[in-house]
Amino acid sequence: MYFECLLDAILGERQIFHIIDCSICGFEEVYYESSTAKQLIGRACSHCNFVQRFDD
Ligand SMILES: [Zn+2]
Repeated sequence: MYFECLLDAILGERQIFHIIDCSICGFEEVYYESSTAKQLIGRACSHCNFVQRFDD
């Protein structure tokens, strides 16, 4: 559940846009969009503990 807290802190309110295979570990890499503005806000892989917020 730590990873979800990390996502809350970095990405804030979000919903899943799509899921691809992570290029590093092959697990799920999730792309998130803003639930209000419908813009891509970032991506994350819980297996790699990787979170990236896209710049505006
Ligand atoms: Zn990964």
